[in-house]
Amino acid sequence: MTVTAAQPAAGPPGGGRQTMTRTLLNSALAGLGTTIFAEMSALAVGTGSVNLGQGFPDTDGPAELARVAADAVLAGLGNQYPPGPGIPELRIAVAAHQKRFYGLDLDPDTEVLVTTGATEAIAAAMLALLEPGDEVIALEPYYDSYAACIAMAGARRVPVTLRPPLFRPDLDAMRDAITSRTRIILLNSPHNPTGMVATKAELAAIADLAVRHDLLVVTDEVYEHLVFDGEHVPIVTLPGMRERTVTISSGGKTFSFTGWKVGWVTGTPELVTAVRTAKQFLTFVSSGPFQYAIAAGLALPDAFYADLATGLRRKRGLLADGLRAAGFEVFVPQGTYFITTDIGRLGESDGLDFCRSLPHRCGVVAVPNVVFYDDRAAGRTQVRFAFCKRDDVLADAARRLSGLRRPASG
Ligand code: PMP
Ligand code: GLN
Repeated sequence: MTVTAAQPAAGPPGGGRQTMTRTLLNSALAGLGTTIFAEMSALAVGTGSVNLGQGFPDTDGPAELARVAADAVLAGLGNQYPPGPGIPELRIAVAAHQKRFYGLDLDPDTEVLVTTGATEAIAAAMLALLEPGDEVIALEPYYDSYAACIAMAGARRVPVTLRPPLFRPDLDAMRDAITSRTRIILLNSPHNPTGMVATKAELAAIADLAVRHDLLVVTDEVYEHLVFDGEHVPIVTLPGMRERTVTISSGGKTFSFTGWKVGWVTGTPELVTAVRTAKQFLTFVSSGPFQYAIAAGLALPDAFYADLATGLRRKRGLLADGLRAAGFEVFVPQGTYFITTDIGRLGESDGLDFCRSLPHRCGVVAVPNVVFYDDRAAGRTQVRFAFCKRDDVLADAARRLSGLRRPASG
């Protein structure tokens, strides 16, 4: 797509506005357009639909954390530029969290970096660790910012396709995808959009590849506490991985405050320093007062984390039942708050068209997984629904979707 700056100039030659013929958008970003999340949320607002597209809860997280943020603003904590690596309270809380849940020992001063959400962490990691021409192996469907950040770093993504119904990582395909240009394996588990949670054995096989080929692993673990079946294993805990793993997470999903945009990177001092070098020129520092609130969140007792998963497991069941009743093929996720479906049984063959028409047909918004694939054919009929919504909203969505079933023929 070519974006030009202005229409042809009116008026005499040499006066008025000139036509610009050069493409404005950097070629690395060509074709990326508007994110599917923005497009679909705008469609939801425009049509008054139930929004099960963009992944954000419709109920805020703990009021006590909102109070910490408000108190911090009023007390003048973090209202001016906080320290570049993040406030010490949050870095200490991140290190304590990694110790509590995974037995990891991290130095909060040198091995933790606070970022503006996981989104900035991903961008800074790609910009810091890649050279132009390097290759990044990523599981597809991949979260959309991966493709954009790899491209902005001048590198090339090499997808390894997860396939229904189970979406397990294909370790042979990953091995075959490694070349002399491969620099990073970019992982995401629990995986958005499929809900796949990588097993320890799968991660061990990936770790083995990384060690054998001397690769870095960047792992996006923002859904680490949203696991219903199996367990979340950070790949950094596996042998040989500490020195080559950049672990990314964020408070958005765990604490149900996706607008606060507090994320973090953990890794060896060398890796964190590299990522910080890029981060400091992206945002310099990240959201001051919210850092205090997320630090308080990370110190919440184990029961908070268990209740989060229990509540979402129940919602997974509600939405899965509603989708099945409406005629979708449902791939039950092991983690995250998304359900991927296949629309073939509804007589549909194009997820993008389907999602664009769904709000008009029945007042529900979903996300077409095809936009997260390079292999468009592999994802054409997959559609994702978010279940981080109130029970009555999920029930309303199920009722609306029930009108989709084709009348029985004959
Ligand atoms: N990675 C994945 C897999 C996501 O789904 C999201 C959206 N929460 C992000 C990263 C971005 O996280 P944040 O909102 O903290 O920037
Ligand atoms: N991570 C959320 C999702 O997958 C929202 C991301 C976004 O809006 N950029 O829906």
